[in-house]
Amino acid sequence: MYRSLYFKIILILIIFIATVMAVVGTILLNGTSGYFADDFREQMTSAFDDDAELYRYLDSAVVRGDGAAALELTLNAYSGQLGLDANRSAAILDESGCVLAAADPSSMFVVGDTVYLTPNILSVMNGGSGAQQRAGAECFDFCIRIASGEEAYLIYVRDSKEEMQSLNWMLFSIILQALLFGGVFAIVLSFFLAKTITSPIQSLTRGAQQIAAGEFEQEIDVHSRDEIGTLTDTFNHMKSVLKNTIDQVSGEQKKLETVFFYLKDAVAAFRDDGTLMHQNTTAKDLFAMIEGRSRDAGEETEDTSLTLAWVLKLCGIEDNPVFRAALERNDEPGEEGYVIREIALCERVFDVSLGNFRYMEDNENHTGIIAVIHDVTGRYELDRSRREFVANVSHELRTPLTSIKGAAETVLRYPDMPADMRESFLSMAVEESDRMTRIVGDLLVLSRLDNNRTKWEISTFSVEAVIRHMCEVVKNDIAEHRHTLSVRLDDALPQITADKDRVEQVLLNILTNAIKYTPEGGRILIRAVSNRTHVAISVRDNGIGIPKEDQPHLFERFYRVEKSRTTGAGGTGLGLAIAKELVEAHGGKIRLSSAVGEGTELTVILPIRSPLADEAEEEPTA
Ligand code: ADP
Repeated sequence: MYRSLYFKIILILIIFIATVMAVVGTILLNGTSGYFADDFREQMTSAFDDDAELYRYLDSAVVRGDGAAALELTLNAYSGQLGLDANRSAAILDESGCVLAAADPSSMFVVGDTVYLTPNILSVMNGGSGAQQRAGAECFDFCIRIASGEEAYLIYVRDSKEEMQSLNWMLFSIILQALLFGGVFAIVLSFFLAKTITSPIQSLTRGAQQIAAGEFEQEIDVHSRDEIGTLTDTFNHMKSVLKNTIDQVSGEQKKLETVFFYLKDAVAAFRDDGTLMHQNTTAKDLFAMIEGRSRDAGEETEDTSLTLAWVLKLCGIEDNPVFRAALERNDEPGEEGYVIREIALCERVFDVSLGNFRYMEDNENHTGIIAVIHDVTGRYELDRSRREFVANVSHELRTPLTSIKGAAETVLRYPDMPADMRESFLSMAVEESDRMTRIVGDLLVLSRLDNNRTKWEISTFSVEAVIRHMCEVVKNDIAEHRHTLSVRLDDALPQITADKDRVEQVLLNILTNAIKYTPEGGRILIRAVSNRTHVAISVRDNGIGIPKEDQPHLFERFYRVEKSRTTGAGGTGLGLAIAKELVEAHGGKIRLSSAVGEGTELTVILPIRSPLADEAEEEPTA
């Protein structure tokens, strides 16, 4: 309370009034004292002037030798001019200061035989003047020496200052009263004055507190047009500008946060001491995933939180001054910042970009590090599968080429070889070139599918007719392998709208696989069921089956189960890949169910009306 402006204003006003009163009082009291001293001196010097009547009478009385009593009588005669009264009295002293005559000896301050020897008496005794009035002296006094021959007297007038003191006391009490009234008046006045000054300041303070609490709605009322009114006006304006700025900033921040939140890349910001400052959900999920996998793998994780040290360890970098300097320059190793490519972790591949950013903490500028972890597993896998694909194609084509070359060279080198041997070499060359043609044909189909350049021949046909036709096609093969082929179809299988040749190709690929990968005398069952929208055709065999670990890769290009290679079945690994792509192009799906030693079932699910039909209808008008 004592520190409040309100209290200070009241105090200042009271001190001001008290100071004014004190100064006025002091000047007034000093003035009256000075006036009284001057007046006393004036009166005395004029009465005892050489030419003054009183002085001349006194001087002649001394010359005549009338004695002290006569001098005293003369003084009394002039008591009016000298102002003698109860407070002021005169006395005749001898040269040593003893009272010779006095109207009221008790008023003289007698010490021992003499009066109290004031500086004026002593001065006259020593031949000086006795009219000096000293500030702070107990009384006013005046002394003069009148002498003739051997006879000499000191005329001494003493004023007890009582008159002056009573006047001063009266003045003092008046000033005191004024001070008292002034004080009360000052308190009342300062109360209102302080209220007028402090209430807008208090409103401003409340406004500032509201801003600090994040409330910007309430305007502060402007009551006056003075400086405080202008300040309030400016404050209101500042508040609305601040609100707009904060709205803008928080809008931008929200935008950034949303971007940050939905970012597919993991972003984590670290302080300069390496501790985590901020991370997005992707970073959180990624770290949790890696941590979970490490735990599952039985690895000891020292730290369970995402730190810069962890990220740098992941990148194979150590946090040292050289790294920090390189990061600051942003020049190593990539131009776009510090990027570490293709870090493999937990069966995934990441690119990590590191950069620095400035931030404020504890009123100091710091440089933090921001890490963007980009999951490039998809791109990496694509690159890898492309490389594998090229390698596979080269390999698949080189094998038959080598055989053809070998056969041709042998026939050329031995022109006299027996005819049956030559025929066998040549037919091997033909077989291998057929195989090559098949591979190239399959690759072409896939390439057209990849580039959307397949020419679809859409028609509406009976599923049952297609299945029966395929059974005819593989009849010889079935007989060759001494398999039993049975067909079980729904009574009312619908007609479907699709590319008939491509559907037949899919079924043929699946059927030939069932024939190939089933030991002699196996059983193959074709079934077909339908609902209102789809038809499902399944081919089941009781062949060698497909191991669980191979099943996810079965539809990849050139993928062949290792075991089946040893059977000498000699496939290219493209059949199921083509089947899958063709079915999916028709808007359908392929399902696989298989167990090693028990058999395999492949189910093709096709829509009754393929979306390709709609595309084909749209094309001519386009
Ligand atoms: P391929 O030309 O080698 O037959 P596919 O793409 O048709 O190529 O088949 C891929 C691999 O899947 C085959 O190599 C074979 O190992 C396996 N496979 C396909 N169908 C069957 C089946 N019915 N039974 C056992 N294995 C099969």
